[in-house]
Amino acid sequence: MTYDVETYRKDFPALAQEIHGHPLAYLDTAASALKPRAVIDAMSRFLERDYANIHRGVHELSQRSTDMYEAVRPMIRDFISAGREEEIVFTHGATDAANLVAQAWGRTFLKTGDEIVITALEHHANIVPWQLLREQIGIVLRVVPVTPEGEVRIEDVKAALSDRTRLVAFAHVSNVLGTILPAKEIAALAHDAGALVFVDGAQSISHLPVDVRDIDADFFVFSGHKIYGPTGIGALYAKQKILESMPPYQGGGDMIASVTFEKTTFKDPPFRFEAGTPPIAEVVGLGAALRYVSEIGMDNIAAHEDEILRYATEALSGIEGVRIVGTAKNKSGIVSFIMEHAHPHDIGTVLDRSGVAIRAGHHCAQPLMEHLGLTATARASFGLYTNKADIDALAAAVRKVREIFG
Ligand code: PLP
Repeated sequence: MTYDVETYRKDFPALAQEIHGHPLAYLDTAASALKPRAVIDAMSRFLERDYANIHRGVHELSQRSTDMYEAVRPMIRDFISAGREEEIVFTHGATDAANLVAQAWGRTFLKTGDEIVITALEHHANIVPWQLLREQIGIVLRVVPVTPEGEVRIEDVKAALSDRTRLVAFAHVSNVLGTILPAKEIAALAHDAGALVFVDGAQSISHLPVDVRDIDADFFVFSGHKIYGPTGIGALYAKQKILESMPPYQGGGDMIASVTFEKTTFKDPPFRFEAGTPPIAEVVGLGAALRYVSEIGMDNIAAHEDEILRYATEALSGIEGVRIVGTAKNKSGIVSFIMEHAHPHDIGTVLDRSGVAIRAGHHCAQPLMEHLGLTATARASFGLYTNKADIDALAAAVRKVREIFG
């Protein structure tokens, strides 16, 4: 199949606009992806015709709404190759899912002195929930270093493991460097050491075909907005046995079997972890997003983004004074860079005047920045709609930065 990026671009209404008199080159997909018409329409159609609160309603709209909401659970199961829909918990996003694991699993099963291994390239969402747990029960956080190229070496993971390791938690893809971590190998090592495996899939979900059973992840989390869906919705995958062993994290409506003032019993997973009215239209929107990317095919998207990554890497490396940060062999569609005389925020501002949207800063990975001896980077990130003209616009605007700042 030939990948027709120009056709797909027409599915994204936001791309049709000009910014400061230039065609929009949206290179900030790692922060959040633009939304295709299919998602926008599915959500507005749902809100116009089918919306009501879900579960327990006897009227037509509630039943319709419940069916449309619950239909997305098996879609997520299939999208990440999980075994059962009961293993999919709706959360507000990757961050919410990480906190759920830290509090419901970590607080129940970990003891003072138990160790959690993370890597130096983690997003704050995969650092701070474990630090909160450290304050609550005195666990120890061990950090696997990252090489100057931005890789996580298997030997270094091995060295961080001990007989106290209970969890190894890592990003499938780094949101700063684009590095694809060897998830399957890390998971095998962790399991050999008797630890569970938490994979932060916030950046892999929209760029790589994900197979949680092939990785043998015990937990896998992602956010809907990174995969062309709405904000406020995401998912936690956890192996059924583990989910069944976990107590609820939050209490309220919808997660109970029965309530008296003396005693409350809870539903089975996943409902036990979904207290309160969920973001219903957002779940429907996420379903539309998964349908949309599945029709294009994750393999095709990955191959297209790989070509764009190569093109962008070549274009930026050819500009004097630009240094690419993160040169791992196995990378996904992200290029972070710095320039000799311009701060990343200045780069971002100059690029914006040319219609090029990138992100500048620490990218919610302050410990990684410190590890690399940097305060910030400029980051261009790609999606299924990124074309070579976007990259040409990026390179031209970066040359302009060089003219201005030297
Ligand atoms: N993990 C990684 C690697 C990310 O890039 C992000 C968001 O940028 C997150 C976790 C958190 O995602 P969210 O803010 O959608 O919960």
